[in-house]
Amino acid sequence: MVQEGRSSALRKKHRAHFARSKPSCHICGGPIDYSLKWPDPMCFVVDHLVAIANGGSDQLSNKAASHNHCNSKKRARVYAPIIRRSGTLE
Ligand SMILES: [Zn+2]
Repeated sequence: MVQEGRSSALRKKHRAHFARSKPSCHICGGPIDYSLKWPDPMCFVVDHLVAIANGGSDQLSNKAASHNHCNSKKRARVYAPIIRRSGTLE
């Protein structure tokens, strides 16, 4: 289950913030081409520093810009134990 859609207006605002300030990827440190569109692996996605599923907030202070592919690599690592804990794999 993906916990999203709680505040799409807020997400849009935060995406616009990153698209304006154009920070580098917080995971690999490389520059992001903000003109690329999803699902390009190098496109920009908003990453939660502490995953919502882990009690992270949906505020800008808990968000950072990352490449799509960096984010999915991180997600695969971070989310695996959560799935186990929730009992889905038991
Ligand atoms: Zn990256």
